[in-house]
Amino acid sequence: MTEILNYINGELRKPGTDAWLDNVNPATGKVYSQIPDSDAGDVEAATKAATDAFRQWSVTPVKQRSDLLLRLSALIQQNLAKFAEAESIDNGKPITLATQVDIPRAVSNFHFYGTAALHTHTQAHAMENTALNYTLRQPAGVAGCISPWNLPLYLFSWKIAPALAAGCTVVAKPSEVTPMTAYLLSELCIEAGFPKGVLNIVHGLGTRAGAAIVEHPGIRLISFTGGTKTGEWISRTAAPMFKKLSLELGGKNPGLVFADCDLDHAVSSSLKAAFSNQGEICLCSSRIFIEKTIYDKFRDAFVKKAAAMKVGDPMNPETKTGAIVSKTHYEKILSCIELARQEGGQILCGGEPVKMSGDNAGGYFIQPTVIEHLPHDCRTNQEEIFGPVVTLLPFEKEEEAIAMANSTRYGLAATLFTTNLNRAHRVAAKLDSGIVWVNCWLLRDLRTPFGGMKQSGMGREGGFEALNFFTEEKNVCIKIS
Ligand code: NAD
Repeated sequence: MTEILNYINGELRKPGTDAWLDNVNPATGKVYSQIPDSDAGDVEAATKAATDAFRQWSVTPVKQRSDLLLRLSALIQQNLAKFAEAESIDNGKPITLATQVDIPRAVSNFHFYGTAALHTHTQAHAMENTALNYTLRQPAGVAGCISPWNLPLYLFSWKIAPALAAGCTVVAKPSEVTPMTAYLLSELCIEAGFPKGVLNIVHGLGTRAGAAIVEHPGIRLISFTGGTKTGEWISRTAAPMFKKLSLELGGKNPGLVFADCDLDHAVSSSLKAAFSNQGEICLCSSRIFIEKTIYDKFRDAFVKKAAAMKVGDPMNPETKTGAIVSKTHYEKILSCIELARQEGGQILCGGEPVKMSGDNAGGYFIQPTVIEHLPHDCRTNQEEIFGPVVTLLPFEKEEEAIAMANSTRYGLAATLFTTNLNRAHRVAAKLDSGIVWVNCWLLRDLRTPFGGMKQSGMGREGGFEALNFFTEEKNVCIKIS
């Protein structure tokens, strides 16, 4: 059975205590590899390596850093099929999605930051004949990067690439639920010729290895993507050490469908927004508000398509809906569906586990589930489920839809379907949401700052914002007369 290894100081290593965790394939329920159960000792070794490497890496010409990131990007591209298969087995996501979306986006992240770092600039302010003020941006130090399981390599690379491009060295921890692509990445870092200690990958539990990264005084900044509760703990722990923090957290994203929309497009886009990756994308819509005059029409078309979505073996290229990532998460989603029933929700389709056969008999599969007749303020419509479960709610007035959409503690993403240009701008401005998609979903230029409002996070990643996050600003004022 494959043993996934830590990547510390340029070497692949077993955990110091030789303790291991099982890695389960969620489509079969079977253990298929072992993960290091790393502890504070491993994090200490990784931080020491990163601290030593920082002295050289932080002053390495940006062109050399860029070349390495571009080489890594090209290597992932060359190994795309291997990465996609690993991600699909780890996560349960359809292999087609991993091949067409997740892995190509990781390739783009390394490419984007490898080139973006070449084009940074800084500001200068001249005080006529008296002085010149300018801002230096210098790499902030050792960065801690912690990522979740839903888009394993994509979100891992989303943090690591800008950190390395900015001249930071990194101690990173992928999710213990989906560690395989980060392991494959460490092998490629060796092949690409990364100097030792520049990137260190420590595998293991959040509460052990992850917590040790957050608590380590030598790690100057934390870039975290995951749940709001974990983010809260990270904030509390890191604040007394004045660490720089970027937190990308949970969501309960609304979709707003107005009667003046292109109905067929709104139905098919909302379906993608609700159920892509089994609803396990932080940007998935989970509450769809529909103008009353088209409610029945939208609901009937949406439910017909959702009911026809076939759940299948993630390794089959035809499969569009795969397995839920883990047994724990599968049970959580089923308990959320049960709560929706108790709250008076009517299940229009799905709502049950799917019994599969053959190798997939022990896997965790749930049919896309659509629910109606729930008030906007019940628990089902307020708490994040993070699975293939969506509720439909009618509204009469624009203001009412906005108020219901904004009624949760989250503010990550929203979709809006209308052909009325004035309404599109007006409603987008009023939604509590880090990103609003009008007549589309999941489109984004990598230069656009990304992040959530309210309890969906703090700080912005993406584009130059991410490069700036990984640097410290120093202002110099030089007297010239
Ligand atoms: P999680 O918070 O349980 O875990 C995320 C990562 O943090 C994992 O690597 C985990 O091991 C680690 N971790 C857990 N406890 C820790 C601790 N005490 N200290 C340090 N690290 C710790 O989240 P998850 O279940 O892996 O991911 C799902 C969540 O992520 C959902 O809430 C989803 O909305 C959110 N998410 C947000 C975004 C975004 O961009 N806002 C993107 C993807 C996922």
